[in-house]
Amino acid sequence: MSADAPLLEVRNLKKHYPIQRGIFGGEVGRIRAVDGVSFSVERGETLGLVGESGCGKSTAATTMLRLEEPTDGDVLFDGVDITEYDDRELKRFRRRAQMIFQDPTSSFDPRMSIGESVAEPLRIHGMSDGNRRRAIVKDLLERVGMSGDDIDRYPHEFSGGQKQRIALARALSVNPDLIVADEPASALDVSIQADILQLISDLQEEFGLGVVFISHDLGVIRDIADNVAVMYLGEIVETGPTEQVFDSPQHPYTRALIDSIPSPNPRERGMAVELTGDVPSPANPPSGCRFHTRCPEVIQPEGYDFEQSAWRSVMNFRTKVTTRQIDLDGIREFVIAETDVTDPEDVTHDQMVDAIRSDFDIPDTLSDPEAESVLSDALERVVRDEFDEASASLAEAFETVCATDSPDMVRTEAGHSASCHLHDQSVEVEPGERIAQSDD
Ligand code: SF4
Repeated sequence: MSADAPLLEVRNLKKHYPIQRGIFGGEVGRIRAVDGVSFSVERGETLGLVGESGCGKSTAATTMLRLEEPTDGDVLFDGVDITEYDDRELKRFRRRAQMIFQDPTSSFDPRMSIGESVAEPLRIHGMSDGNRRRAIVKDLLERVGMSGDDIDRYPHEFSGGQKQRIALARALSVNPDLIVADEPASALDVSIQADILQLISDLQEEFGLGVVFISHDLGVIRDIADNVAVMYLGEIVETGPTEQVFDSPQHPYTRALIDSIPSPNPRERGMAVELTGDVPSPANPPSGCRFHTRCPEVIQPEGYDFEQSAWRSVMNFRTKVTTRQIDLDGIREFVIAETDVTDPEDVTHDQMVDAIRSDFDIPDTLSDPEAESVLSDALERVVRDEFDEASASLAEAFETVCATDSPDMVRTEAGHSASCHLHDQSVEVEPGERIAQSDD
């Protein structure tokens, strides 16, 4: 144990799940649920881990507590690597680091009174005096806003919010230093959520706890966290003090998430940047920056200069061409439904091209003539079912650094860190693009 070390320090943590096939169960791939995340939490501090569902944040939580074994990386607790712990050491660590889950109902045994449930960790960790356990449990129930007289009642007698309070009492029973709370309020009624969040905040202050608070909801993270780490597809893409990240988000993904927080002001509604494209699979993450298949600010290839929204649309088209996800029969049917043409044989190439453009929200003509020429040629080829040739010419002409190089996590001008080529001075971008990111 080191006095200067953070309470929790996670370094390059990875959790991969093998994909096995065939009668011998050979590994044919890996789901990279968590793929090299690093962060730290001090005593008395709350770190908000935020991202869309499926981004790997819950797996990061269970892996850093060794409820699942990490594939790689270090987890230092008080400066000591818990990935090296044997069973006895792990048991001691589990006493100091408790987890609160999303669904309070499934975390209780319906046959045990809540007194027995809350006392269970005390019993497991060696407190044999039943009277003493009972006194501690009553005290804890009162600290989380319940009555000590509830001790002999059963889980089904309580609401979801009350059960989450009891789950907190159980976590606190062993006097932990760290609480990892995975979406602790999202399964509850909106009216109850604020109470539970306030309770976690109060308890953190009272007990000087370190808290890792996991949520898909940026609004909640803004209210509760001191620092925030934004996750996308198994990686952290931006991290820093909560206020700074919200006031000056430096990663396009963070910006899109913040934009999507519902605003009470009707004038601001509908102004959000909408993310397009599917969330890629962690079994096959995109090359380069993992966000490039959806990023509204994806950098244009050198030598081109056209509207950013049109460039995003062209990138979406390119992705679907590469993965042959353009349904030519479906497009033909669409043309028939929208025009006077009745026979599929009579649908013209131009009509097909126009329909694809409109499907992808690509303007009739790109403002950059060179880009327009490459795109028109690719559209023609797609309509002729020459996907490989179209894909090759789009890849050659529209190569972007975002798809080829993985950005490093760097300190931005705002003072906190983000991983995006827009912050890399060696990457050439149109002046407007870089100014757009630093003006926020
Ligand atoms: S590196 Fe490129 S794709 Fe990734 S976030 Fe930055 S601009 Fe977007």
